[in-house]
Amino acid sequence: MTIVVGAGLAGLTCAKVLAQAGKPFCLLEAASRPGGRVVSDRTQEGFILDRGFQVLLDSYPVARRHLDFQGLGGGRFRAGAMFVGRGMPRTLENPRHRPSAALDALGSGVLPLPDQLRMMLLAVMAVTGSSRVNDLSTEALLRRCGFGEDFFVRFARPFFGGVLLDPGLQTSAGLFLNYLRRFVTGRALLPALGMGGLAEQLASYLPRESVHFETRVEALVFREERVSGVRLADGREIQAQEVVCAVDEPSTCRLLGRGSPRSARGTAVHYFAADRALYSGAWLCLPPRSDASPVLHAAIVTNVEPALAPAGSHLWSVTVLPEHPKAADAEFVACEVTSWFQAGAGELRPLSYVQVPYAVPEQLPGFERRPAPWGALPDGLLVAGDAACGASIDAVLASGEAAAKKVILSGRLN
Ligand SMILES: Cc1cc2nc3c(=O)[nH]c(=O)nc-3n(C[C@H](O)[C@H](O)[C@H](O)COP(=O)(O)OP(=O)(O)OC[C@H]3O[C@@H](n4cnc5c(N)ncnc54)[C@H](O)[C@@H]3O)c2cc1C
Repeated sequence: MTIVVGAGLAGLTCAKVLAQAGKPFCLLEAASRPGGRVVSDRTQEGFILDRGFQVLLDSYPVARRHLDFQGLGGGRFRAGAMFVGRGMPRTLENPRHRPSAALDALGSGVLPLPDQLRMMLLAVMAVTGSSRVNDLSTEALLRRCGFGEDFFVRFARPFFGGVLLDPGLQTSAGLFLNYLRRFVTGRALLPALGMGGLAEQLASYLPRESVHFETRVEALVFREERVSGVRLADGREIQAQEVVCAVDEPSTCRLLGRGSPRSARGTAVHYFAADRALYSGAWLCLPPRSDASPVLHAAIVTNVEPALAPAGSHLWSVTVLPEHPKAADAEFVACEVTSWFQAGAGELRPLSYVQVPYAVPEQLPGFERRPAPWGALPDGLLVAGDAACGASIDAVLASGEAAAKKVILSGRLN
């Protein structure tokens, strides 16, 4: 039998592939439900609130293999953005999705023409994978492309900084181009049950008797240098042929008893309810980045998927920088958001302030080639999830799939 520790997206995918191959497994999860960092909470009123703003890109190839997109339902953001906060809101759309958007963009004045041309070149670079940039930060790459300060303030920090959970843009340029490729070739989706719908769907493919919630693994059990099982919080031991550790990096280091995890990037979101939508269309709103404001980006997510709120209500998701002194101030944030549309702050009713201290590990240039913090793995142990790969939904699904395939292959060889 194989033990999979952690029912985040990586562990769930690993378990799904094992189940499909008829390989016996036991999935152990400390929390009371699946999903890890991808869960949604339903309020008593019927609002669905994700734990941090995130999206599923429909161009993710591994996600297309493992998720039933039709079953997830939901809606898609427009491929572009609404620029707010300096005069009237204006939109800019990716011409690949709507060719006439190229002409609109020229007349909109949102970004100067040279920056629009640079964006097109960057998109080509991302799609063709024609550049070796692994040792550059995202900021360094954008500066090398010739973008000026205004582009950083208007677009790069709110949009790319939001995607990477790093408005300083110190994340690896290679990872950034990977994300950009998926954005250029696809659309960002919000499932009908919120992002937690991904985990619910993956869990639905698993035999119930093989999945154990509220079951924390305290330690790995070794026999002659080889991992032979796990010890649970209640002291019980479970033996296994292999253990797949699909937990976050700090937990992986803890279970292995070695290595220091990378520092984490956190995020935070204010949710507001409104009786009317202050704009129409499935747009992500980008305010100019300013130290005076905690707001990074915002959206009426019910413009994307109406089922995220009870009938007649609209749901705002406003991502803020968690370390900003005004981050937790819902009134301040509501004031800023409504000012973009010349509306009163009273139109937004605070629902919840959700903090995510550990969203993704820091992914500095060259992180892809860094040695694992825990060194060589003992026999009988595999690691999956963003402790071992890039922190994206597609990458963690791929790592869960790869771990399961190794287990299946080793079973055939033995
Ligand atoms: C707010 C936010 C926004 C994001 N935005 C995007 C985005 O837009 N697009 C994108 O592609 N990616 C995004 N990501 C990244 C992506 O969601 C993560 O990289 C991915 O979900 C990590 O999955 P995982 O399975 O590796 O880890 P986790 O989700 O952390 O799962 C690990 C699981 O292991 C369990 N566990 C830990 N220790 C133990 C133990 N000792 N015993 C038993 N169980 C244990 C945990 O409870 C957890 O359920 C975002 C992440 C966050 C948090």
